[in-house]
Amino acid sequence: MFKILTHKACLQHQLADHPERPARLHAVLDRLRSDGIITGTEDVISPVTAELLCLVHPAHFVEQVIAAEPETGTIRLDADTYLSNGSIKAAFMAAAANIQATQLVLENAAERVFCAVRPPGHHAERAEAMGFCLFNNIALAAETALQHPSINRIAILDFDVHHCNGTVDIFKDRPEVLVCSSFQEEFYPYRYMAFSNEHIVSVPLASGTKSQHFRRAIESQWVPAIEKHKPDFIFVSAGFDAHADDPLGGLLLSRDDYRWITELIIDLAKQYAKGRIVSTLEGGYNTEALADCAAEHASALQSYATIKS
Ligand SMILES: [Zn+2]
Repeated sequence: MFKILTHKACLQHQLADHPERPARLHAVLDRLRSDGIITGTEDVISPVTAELLCLVHPAHFVEQVIAAEPETGTIRLDADTYLSNGSIKAAFMAAAANIQATQLVLENAAERVFCAVRPPGHHAERAEAMGFCLFNNIALAAETALQHPSINRIAILDFDVHHCNGTVDIFKDRPEVLVCSSFQEEFYPYRYMAFSNEHIVSVPLASGTKSQHFRRAIESQWVPAIEKHKPDFIFVSAGFDAHADDPLGGLLLSRDDYRWITELIIDLAKQYAKGRIVSTLEGGYNTEALADCAAEHASALQSYATIKS
């Protein structure tokens, strides 16, 4: 079974004229509803506690971010990363969705879950919020799975145009966690981009890279690593800002590439991970392209589940 988790609190994190804006999530949800991928009402998400965030972040950092939320207006943690009134509830719900999604899969209440949430998380390092991200949502999902006795090895796959420095920072010394990323080279976040070891597989792509080269790079570098690692559970940082129309990124992917990579991930999950996939929204800043690509991703996750059952 396929589920989508979202929460209206994720729309309350906002700063005028910032690219990471509520309109992104509105566009995704509107498209998923009009395409019939979301039917009925949103799933209710159980709130997360600050203690749960300490699965991947130190308590002093969590307290620091919570304390930074303003009562009115906005504050910036760095040039890119802001908090408004409502940001902490949004960030808590984004984290909660990822944790709940993982629990649903572990309990066999779902096989695949997509978390349509914001703010994104993959730039959030163990003790630093950056790159529009406050807490690392996918890392929390992954750590939740690793606490389950039947989950020994997991993979986190990240096809956002930006490198997942936060996820690498959190899992760089954890060989049971395979992190495969593809990203635009010599681009934000300018850290960890050259870092690699046996379980951190980084695939930098030159600005202007198109579908064919992207697909070959994934097939030749991600797939063998996943086949060797044999993950029990696959997590996806689903950023859609490598699309050709994205205003931030310089890669030239199409919506078809997102269906292609989602189907590839589903095949690998079926082969090694009993089909288990939790995917979460990361970047994507052209709302139309974002909606198109997120719909391809969610539709592939959903339709494959339907065929299987
Ligand atoms: Zn991004």
